[in-house]
Amino acid sequence: MDDLRAPPEQANPGASSSETNPLSPTSAGGSTTNGPLPIRQGHELPFVAPSSYLRPKQTSRTMSDKTPSPLDKDQMQGLRGVREFLKVRTSYDVLPLSFRLVVLDIDLLIKKSLNILIQNGIVSAPLWDSRNSTFAGLLTSTDYINVIQYYCQFPDQLNQVDQFRLSSLRDIEKAIGVLPLETVSVHPARPLYEACRRMLKTRARRIPLVDVDSETGRETVVSVITQYRILKFIAVNNEKHTMLLKKPVRELGLGTYTNLATATMNSCVLDVIHLMVKHNISAVPIVDRDNKLLNVFEAVDVIPCIKGGAYDELSASVGDALSKRADDFTGIYTCSEEDRLDSIFDTIRKSRVHRLIVVDDESRLKGIISLSDILKYVLLYGEEDDTIRAP
Ligand code: AMP
Repeated sequence: MDDLRAPPEQANPGASSSETNPLSPTSAGGSTTNGPLPIRQGHELPFVAPSSYLRPKQTSRTMSDKTPSPLDKDQMQGLRGVREFLKVRTSYDVLPLSFRLVVLDIDLLIKKSLNILIQNGIVSAPLWDSRNSTFAGLLTSTDYINVIQYYCQFPDQLNQVDQFRLSSLRDIEKAIGVLPLETVSVHPARPLYEACRRMLKTRARRIPLVDVDSETGRETVVSVITQYRILKFIAVNNEKHTMLLKKPVRELGLGTYTNLATATMNSCVLDVIHLMVKHNISAVPIVDRDNKLLNVFEAVDVIPCIKGGAYDELSASVGDALSKRADDFTGIYTCSEEDRLDSIFDTIRKSRVHRLIVVDDESRLKGIISLSDILKYVLLYGEEDDTIRAP
């Protein structure tokens, strides 16, 4: 594991599983005396019911069977059904009937863009070049992380950092030696399947939907489509196929279980950000010294940390940073390796899930399942024709 915490104590393999919910708000953060790490007020964040609600009712057969079992057949039928569904739906179908879109002009100061995102409760926005009337990319938490890296490399230039506009983002990438991300977009009327494939290929977690105005011939940003919205759309509208996905996470190998990047409540925010950059990941589980899951630091948590240009606050602890989360933060979702994909889709249908943290019966961290892992599996498993490989 690449982590920022002290080496975990030896896990007790003989420990019996507990009926209590070790991730309940009380045990996760309600006490400052019982737990191994003091957890300050604000960190007792709502762990949404843990793995028990995802538990399969029966165990499944293994995938290594040569002749496909009924379970294998159902699984493939479910996957094919979801893929067909994505081929006959477009990105337009995913959009709600009415929605708000915040588009930012690239002449805006970066520090002002932070306030706008926070005030609107959003974590990204398409950029617009009003001089050329063109779409100019997507502002995401990665851009703010780049600004932070710039600040770390050139700490004496804080005044300059303060004056950076969104149009400087590409120069910042160059200065810190980051390869500029390809500005991907899709036409909203193209099949949803295409948007998914493009997301997987570019590792983009969100893609702007860009149309061309038939009268002026100019680009129009319609909305932004995310992995979250796509999986929610599948979960809500294609239950007849997702309910066939009865294989457990362990058997599918869904997610990442080795070289997990983790940190503790006492880790410095800046170190956690460096970890996210190094691993190209969007979240770092926060664990205690027994490797028990306490919380997750997400790339979007960076935004409130640097609000108002407070870059020096990045030396604060993860615990402090997490207390700045919005009150409506939806919580951390966990599952076990025995949970089935159909149950995960059930949870996606009902809740705002951005990733699932895999824990054992004693809430020790086992792995992490990102939405990209689920999308990759659903689109590519069993497909032979592509360079993007399923997990
Ligand atoms: P994400 O950044 O969440 O889209 O995840 C990208 C890939 O990295 C997925 O395959 C995840 O399973 C994996 N991943 C996410 N978070 C971590 C982490 N903290 N440590 C190691 N791998 C991770």
